[in-house]
Amino acid sequence: MKLLLRGAAVGAVIIVLAVVWAAWPAAGVPILGYHKVSETEEAYSVPPGDFERQMAYLADAGYTAVTMAALVSHLTAGTPLPAKPVVITFDDGYADNYLTALPIMARHGMRATVFVVTDFLGERPYLTWAELKALRAAGTEIGSHTLHHRALPELPAAERLRDLAMSKEGLEWRLDAPVRFLAYPFGSFDAATVAALKATGYRGAVGTMPGLNKPGDDVYALKRINIPRSRFGMLEFRLRLIRANVYFKLGLS
Ligand SMILES: [Zn+2]
Repeated sequence: MKLLLRGAAVGAVIIVLAVVWAAWPAAGVPILGYHKVSETEEAYSVPPGDFERQMAYLADAGYTAVTMAALVSHLTAGTPLPAKPVVITFDDGYADNYLTALPIMARHGMRATVFVVTDFLGERPYLTWAELKALRAAGTEIGSHTLHHRALPELPAAERLRDLAMSKEGLEWRLDAPVRFLAYPFGSFDAATVAALKATGYRGAVGTMPGLNKPGDDVYALKRINIPRSRFGMLEFRLRLIRANVYFKLGLS
């Protein structure tokens, strides 16, 4: 009986230490990957109530939302970031990013980066150009998610270059602001894709590999924590952050 109690006590201590170690902030920056904030049933659609709780959690936990520009400048040149930085990203350019997510983020002092597919703009459920401009005016960083959402490694080289250059220039022209970052459609890229990005003036890109980002990492292969519609509420959101932290500490990301 005594031995059993001691075993249980040792087990409890190990569990507590493991939880503390996992939850302790790591020296890597999380990038969260969202798509839609709406009540629709898709796996990549986060209900507004859940999104509100997630933003409130980040604010309460002391996170400061920073732009891709600030993150990449930190990773490449050591420019300082706030104490607990996080990058909040949205892919595809859904109208709800402006209509629903923006007011929620504003309530919690958060900001985001929205990667749009330029050919989708103007047709529901995507943003209109006017909404995109308003989103940017409200402090949102705009990035490219290509012209047509095709997998970049599968395009012929000339077509790939044209897609990267035209989506960037089209956005820069209409927004009258530099566009420097890209989210790879389907998270898919290869060496030729990265070379094309560099040739067309992009300064970094995000994929779908899980984990955190630290100085010295390849800024054309930034990792992201995917945030789909949750099945287990806030616990699941917190576990996703903790899991990225654990992978990072174990050197798996
Ligand atoms: Zn996409």
